[in-house]
This record gives sequence, C-alpha cells and structure tokens, in this order.
Amino acid sequence: SRDRVFNFAAGPAILPESVLKKAESELYIWRDSGMSVMEMSHRGKDFLSIIQKAESDLRTLLNISSEYAVLFLQGGATTQFAGIPLNLCKPEDPADFVVTGSWGDKAFKEAQKYCKPSVIWSGKSEKYTKIPSFDALEQNPGAKYLHICANETIHGVEFKNYPTPNNKDGILIADMSSNFCSKPVDVSKFGVIYAGAQKNVGPSGVTIVIIRKDLIGNAQGITPVMLDFKIHAENNSLYNTPPCYGIYMCGLVFEDLLEQGGLQEVEKKNMKKAEILYNTIDESNGFYRCPVDKSVRSLMNVPFTLEKPDLESEFIKKAAEEKMVQLKGHRSVGGMRASIYNAMPLAGVEKLVAFMKDFQARHG
Ligand code: PMP
Repeated sequence: SRDRVFNFAAGPAILPESVLKKAESELYIWRDSGMSVMEMSHRGKDFLSIIQKAESDLRTLLNISSEYAVLFLQGGATTQFAGIPLNLCKPEDPADFVVTGSWGDKAFKEAQKYCKPSVIWSGKSEKYTKIPSFDALEQNPGAKYLHICANETIHGVEFKNYPTPNNKDGILIADMSSNFCSKPVDVSKFGVIYAGAQKNVGPSGVTIVIIRKDLIGNAQGITPVMLDFKIHAENNSLYNTPPCYGIYMCGLVFEDLLEQGGLQEVEKKNMKKAEILYNTIDESNGFYRCPVDKSVRSLMNVPFTLEKPDLESEFIKKAAEEKMVQLKGHRSVGGMRASIYNAMPLAGVEKLVAFMKDFQARHG
C-alpha cells in the first residue's frame, strides 16, 4: 500500500510531512520561475534567494553571530574528518580527541593522515556507554583543538554539556551530525560545528559547517580546493555547483523549525519523546535494556537490546507489520536502535512504546 510508515532509521531519516508536501507542491515549478529547483542555475536570483534564506534561517535558529561563517558543502561529515585537520593544522600539530563512540574514532583515524592527533579519552573499553568527567581530561596544552562527537549515532551517547578546551587557541570542535538543530546550542563555545544533513535537517548530500571566521585561511598547501574553507567562505558556498536541491530542502526544514517556535520548543518535544521510550525500557524488568549511562543518553538515537536475543528478528518483523521500520541496531552493536529525530512525531514513539509493551506481554 502507499501509506507512510514510521521510519526509525538513523539516516537518511524521517523528514517532516509538511516539508515533504511543500516540496511536492513546488517540485514541478518553483514559484514563478517556470522550472524546478533541480533545474535552476545555482547563480541565478531564484536559487540565490533560496540559499540565502536557508543560511539566514539557520543563523536565527542557532543564534549564530556574524563572527561565524555558515557553509553548505558536500561529501558528508566524513569528508570533514579530513577537512578539519587540513584547514586547522600543520602536519606536525597535535590535536586532542575525546572518543565516545565509533564516529569519534573514525574522525580521529582520518585526522592521523593530516596532523598528530591523540585520543585523550576513549570509552571503547566500556563499549561506548559513557562521557568522561571533564575535570579528568588530560588535555594537551599544545593541541590545535579538542574534538568531540556531540552525539554518537550508533552508541546513543550524547554530550549534555561541553568540555572547556584547554589548548593554546581554546578551540572546541564538534561533529553534530546526529543532533544538529535538535536543541539550542551556544555556538560561541565552538570553533567549528559540522554536520551531515541527512538526520535532522534534510536529505543526504549537504554537509553544514559553522566555523569561526578567524580560523579560516590556514589550510595546508596540499588541501584540495573542495576542502578549503577559505574558498567556500569567500564564494558563499558557490565556488562550484552546490547540492542545490538538498540545500532547498534544508531551507524548508529550517522554516518549519522556526514555525514550531525554534529549538527550545523542538528540544521540549524531543525530551518528551525520549523520556517515554527510555522509561519503557527501564520499566521492563530487564526485558529491554539500554546500556548507556542514564545521564548521557541520546535524545536522538535510542539503542536497546532484548533480554532474549532470539526474539530480535520477531520484534523487527512484527514492528514492520505495524508500519514501524528500520529498528534494527547497527551491525557493529546489534540489538535495536530507534532513531527519533525532530521529525518523528510523538505519535510514532507512542505507537512504538505501546508495541513494545504488548510484545513484552506476549513474550516476557
Ligand atoms: N558523524 C556522525 C555522528 C554520523 O552519524 C555520521 C553518519 N551516520 C557521520 C559522521 C558520517 O556522515 P556521512 O555519512 O554524512 O559522511
């Protein structure tokens, strides 16, 4: 049938229905342009109005000051694992990484090609279920920056506040791919925030980089032009052909988030959704289990296991029959994972929770 499902995927992920409908209504002809956004010149006035509005709405949402550049790039967050050290470090420069899950680990490993990063804390031995106490971090005072992954999409571990960087330039960098625009963030605490769009704010193919302007302009000589923040900043993300349609979609999502009342309101909804799901897990007498430290559980990605792992495939099958899909955990950790990004309505989480209780009653 053609009904929409509740899509609990980690990314690409659910988008707001109202945004999809708006895009549908504008797909064939955008306003009075006589063409689709996909067909427009990226240098024409119509697309310029689209990208400028997207940037200005994002600046409003996150209260981004004029000291920061906002870039709409390509290549995913993965490309920034290289882009950031290339732009901020000389090959001999140290950089500190706090590794709270597999994305932070990937960022660290890629940085090894372009600078001298160290892992100053890793949650690996505890299966990435924790965030360290910030006092205990032994930061390298000579480091160029301190890198964190603000929300580990696979492990469901989320920073609730941020360490103060103790390096010589005081730079904190965060991969916010999976909690971008899910709550207010004090951008002024960060040197760079970067995120792939395909979880909370749009389709895949757009990568957003928010960077303090004074950090731009020091790229290593070998930096490919497509990774050089200076080139993109000077050209307002239009040095080459940008992912135009994706940027348009992100713009529609930003508009929708503003219409909801901004990120404070969005965070309240996200807290409510996460609360009912974690409560169901915690009140299941061990039938469901979430291994993550309660204080750092993600509002976006909720991993859980079943006491009887042989019920997992039954759980997934029955959930899919009730139009709840993509609940299988990442292959590296197993179990289940429910991603409940901004666009997941409360009704979707309520339905999942009711299903989980019923499933437990039948199999507990
Ligand atoms: N960082 C995080 C936290 C992610 O969740 C992902 C994607 N799942 C990435 C980086 C990689 O992003 P991309 O696929 O856009 O390169």
